[in-house]
Amino acid sequence: MRVLLANPRGFCAGVDRAIKVVDLALDVFDPPIYVRREIVHNSHVVGDFREKGVIFVDELDEVPNGAVAILSAHGVAPAVFEQARARSLRLIDATCPLVTKVHLEVHRFLRQGFHIVLIGHEGHDEVIGTMGEAPGRITLVENETQARSVDLSRHEKLMVLTQTTLGVDDTRGVIELLLSRYPHLQLPPTDDVCYATQNRQDAVKELAERGIDFLLVVGSKNSSNAARLVEVGAARGVRGFLIDGPDQIQNNWLDGVTAVGVTAGASTPEHVVRSVVAFLQSRGGGGVETVTTIEESTVFQVPVELRVAMESRNPKRKKTETKNQNTHSRAAAAPRSAPRR
Ligand code: SF4
Repeated sequence: MRVLLANPRGFCAGVDRAIKVVDLALDVFDPPIYVRREIVHNSHVVGDFREKGVIFVDELDEVPNGAVAILSAHGVAPAVFEQARARSLRLIDATCPLVTKVHLEVHRFLRQGFHIVLIGHEGHDEVIGTMGEAPGRITLVENETQARSVDLSRHEKLMVLTQTTLGVDDTRGVIELLLSRYPHLQLPPTDDVCYATQNRQDAVKELAERGIDFLLVVGSKNSSNAARLVEVGAARGVRGFLIDGPDQIQNNWLDGVTAVGVTAGASTPEHVVRSVVAFLQSRGGGGVETVTTIEESTVFQVPVELRVAMESRNPKRKKTETKNQNTHSRAAAAPRSAPRR
């Protein structure tokens, strides 16, 4: 049995940054450290931080006044910042800069007189945060069924924004349907689906071309981008399974199989991927072939409020760390070379 391993897979720059934020906060501040919601959608990451003493809460009103609280990578509504101010929390915002970009776009287009049409999944933390930027001025469209029935203004300017972890393929059909009903709908100059989502989906498409019998996507059930990877494989006729680790692989999946594809969502640690590969090798998997579609180099700096805290707590070590980060950081994500819409 061949094992084909997708590259890129696993951690993106936003997840890497969010995890680094919690690690550094544990280092810099006295416990306890609170995190609002799951810092990233992965059970292993959250479990590891719980073991280190991090307390995860659903809302900031569960955090004692004046404590250190970290916001997850998915972004929050302005009301959450107001709540933090009211409770005098020491807030560290680990929102991915690419999600922040969408929040800023909301305000830019509202100022220009647009009503926003957001394509995304109701209830996802990122969508809740983005919708919260302008309640009543954003209409959520989840899928093609809703695109056929949504009631939008024919006179007001309309702008489409999208959840960062949807695929271009997911949004294309919805946008085409919306355009057929509302020809005055406009698309932003750059799309919002992030580089990491797109690159991981492109890698799955390449695996599907290599004759794999099925695809294992390593990721937690609540990871939107991991779930999309299964769908991308399915759209190309490849059966896929979303697994949180090797213990979820069923023995009969491997019967008569000659090639398995393996990838991971953007919030999945590499050690979990390695444990899946090791399991496959213990069940007759041969050497691992890495299938590379693009090399990623995007790095995001940790938030300024954390860098300031690091320097005030330990000037010597923190300055070195900041210098190293600056060496490898970019002000913004590296975009892919061509627009996708
Ligand atoms: Fe940011 Fe994209 Fe990673 Fe989400 S998947 S955290 S938007 S880089």
